[in-house]
Amino acid sequence: MIVAIDGPAGSGKSTIATEIAKTMGFHKLDTGAMYRAVTFAALDRGVDINDEQAVTDLARSIDIRFTSHEDESTKLTVDGKDCSKQIRTPMVDHNVSAVSAYPGVREAMLIHQRRASEDSDIVAEGRDIGSVVFPHAELKVFLTADPKERARRRVLQRHPGASLEDPSIKDEFDKTLDAIEKRDLLDSTREVAPLVAAPDAVKIDSTSHTIDEVVSMISDLIRERR
Ligand code: C5P
Repeated sequence: MIVAIDGPAGSGKSTIATEIAKTMGFHKLDTGAMYRAVTFAALDRGVDINDEQAVTDLARSIDIRFTSHEDESTKLTVDGKDCSKQIRTPMVDHNVSAVSAYPGVREAMLIHQRRASEDSDIVAEGRDIGSVVFPHAELKVFLTADPKERARRRVLQRHPGASLEDPSIKDEFDKTLDAIEKRDLLDSTREVAPLVAAPDAVKIDSTSHTIDEVVSMISDLIRERR
């Protein structure tokens, strides 16, 4: 079975896909991490992000792998080197939408993504999973949330227990909101595989729901369709 979860930055896709994978015994495929890996590799190796051909060649040549560990964490390696942390920096956030808009980069990632579904049930999360990567997925979910709520969650993920009344946290919130809105705009207005809800996707707005509530809604849908 293939479950596709698409949605904008910070809508909770990753946390929810991880939880679903754990409880339902599916493999999780984080496709955003793959575009981040290409972006990190380009920045790390001094490849000009604006050079479409060079970035595309790099995407075709690097070996991106996910490895699961006993403590249930997943690591991402690029050519054998662990880059799990480096793909989550603001520098990568800032450049990833440009890289993911290149058709050749998307084509290279698509091959890996389709292969991942060959030998197990998967829950895949990203922007174009239900619309392009797995148009025949048994269940498609489009997960959204108010941008302010998404920015708030991101900041609290980085600073558990912090208060938005704190000026330095408020400043980080404003910057995060701005970055999220810019990335959403780029991702949803690009020509190739934009962020869009597939016509047959179930739309869930997570603004006023807890993670557990959303996981439970999606798990019920999986049971119905399995
Ligand atoms: O989900 P995450 O925020 O890690 O995704 C990082 C970026 O990768 C997105 O902003 C988008 O530009 C790109 N992406 C994409 N298609 C996907 C998944 C992610 O273009 N299926």
